[in-house]
Amino acid sequence: MARTAKSAPQRATMLAASAEGLPTVVLVGRANVGKSTLFNRLAGRGRAIVSSIAGTTRDLNMVRTSHDGRDFMVVDSGGLELYANEPATERAMEEALRAVAMADLVVFVVDGRAGITGADHEALELVRETGRPLLLAVNKIDNPGNESAASDAYALGLPTLVFVSAAHGRGVGDLLDEIVAQLPAQNPAPAAQPDLRLALIGRPNVGKSSLLNRLFGYERAIVDSRPGTTRDPVLVRLKVGDRDVVLIDTAGIRRPARVEGELEQHSVGRAIEIIRRADVLALVVDATEGITDQDARLARLVETNDRALITVCNKWDAAAKLGRRVAAFARDARERYPFLAFAPLLFTSAVTGDGVDQILPAAVAAGNSWRAEFQTARLNRILAEAVAAMDPPLVAGRRLKLMYVTQIGKAPPRLAFFTNIERDIPAHYVRFLEGRFRAALGLEHVGTPLRLEFRRTGRSWADSRGKHNTSPAHAGGDAGRK
Ligand code: GDP
Repeated sequence: MARTAKSAPQRATMLAASAEGLPTVVLVGRANVGKSTLFNRLAGRGRAIVSSIAGTTRDLNMVRTSHDGRDFMVVDSGGLELYANEPATERAMEEALRAVAMADLVVFVVDGRAGITGADHEALELVRETGRPLLLAVNKIDNPGNESAASDAYALGLPTLVFVSAAHGRGVGDLLDEIVAQLPAQNPAPAAQPDLRLALIGRPNVGKSSLLNRLFGYERAIVDSRPGTTRDPVLVRLKVGDRDVVLIDTAGIRRPARVEGELEQHSVGRAIEIIRRADVLALVVDATEGITDQDARLARLVETNDRALITVCNKWDAAAKLGRRVAAFARDARERYPFLAFAPLLFTSAVTGDGVDQILPAAVAAGNSWRAEFQTARLNRILAEAVAAMDPPLVAGRRLKLMYVTQIGKAPPRLAFFTNIERDIPAHYVRFLEGRFRAALGLEHVGTPLRLEFRRTGRSWADSRGKHNTSPAHAGGDAGRK
């Protein structure tokens, strides 16, 4: 199903090269509001490059420019054309949105002389859905005093509004000041990483307590250890590299007394209680028995509770004596429980100490990937390459279009794909996308769940082109959940 006509990966690479490390400002707005004139003004003496945005067919103008000592790229999105019936225009619309989704800052341009129209409101709605930071440039304010004519621009509700005349250059300095003020910080100070809370779960007698005792002695840099009350578990604070890890001693979690018949219920309830206290769970299994259905159920509880997971195959000393081999064990486990593949498998012996030193680094890697944030531009390059590698499928006779993707949440990462269809996306394509994104983002077998959601965008233009429908869709869905 490889696509022949286009070379999205090549084009994506072009943009990556030309925007190398620089923040990107994208101009967007309806036709004839003066985007190109404004683009030329902002470009100043910079030399415009004609390049492409990942996955687009048109060449878009982009330029490297600077103001107040900040370098950045300015891209003219080519325009959001609503209510046009030609497929070419629909295509232009998708491409403009794709450019917008990659922006660090979006400048939404309106014509202040003609006044704000319903189409401006709808175009802005589409741009807002991308979640990119936005500012409003009200253009064609050629003379002092013209601002009052454009007062309806305030009704668009954007916090930052600048009046400009692209033709005469008025207000362009102010606009550049605002742009630079809102660009992401050059070298953002790394935010203090919150503690990573790690707990061990597993069936009785798999070796959790023995492993915990080993772990308590593993790092000598134990900063504090405070005994819990009867209700609170004992927390042990460890330093792993530059990361603070809080190890939750689950034996300290009070077991409420229950009658015999409720044993199963009780143990699931207790597992959930432990899972919710932690960020990363180390699921300990007894390697002499292999992974059991009950272990897999615990793994699923971790996954459905949105936590990161590492699987620790303990008692490997005894398992090795029984002739078990790591490669065969891992292959077997992944064949029997395919969904477990998102988590790494570790092999340990709490008795000899072998492999125990891998637990904390693996937990830190799992926690980091669980909290990871990915640049929108990077996500959209991966999407362009995925779509080029395999055509999106037909859904009920219509071709699925994936316009752009943004990360809408973390812990675990959640990606929203903005599409023309949000339901009944074939599972094989969802798996294909998940695989591509995991591989490209370094999320294979590290232990974080990855959520994919499909949201329908642009209902007002895709469904009712030609009709003035003023209520854009805000449909959300998670058809992609496995
Ligand atoms: P928990 O119920 O999961 O906390 O399990 P324990 O830590 O109490 O261990 C249960 C039993 O398994 C004890 O007899 C341990 O000595 C034994 N055990 C734990 N880890 C290992 C291991 O890595 N190898 C072997 N051979 N025995 C182990």
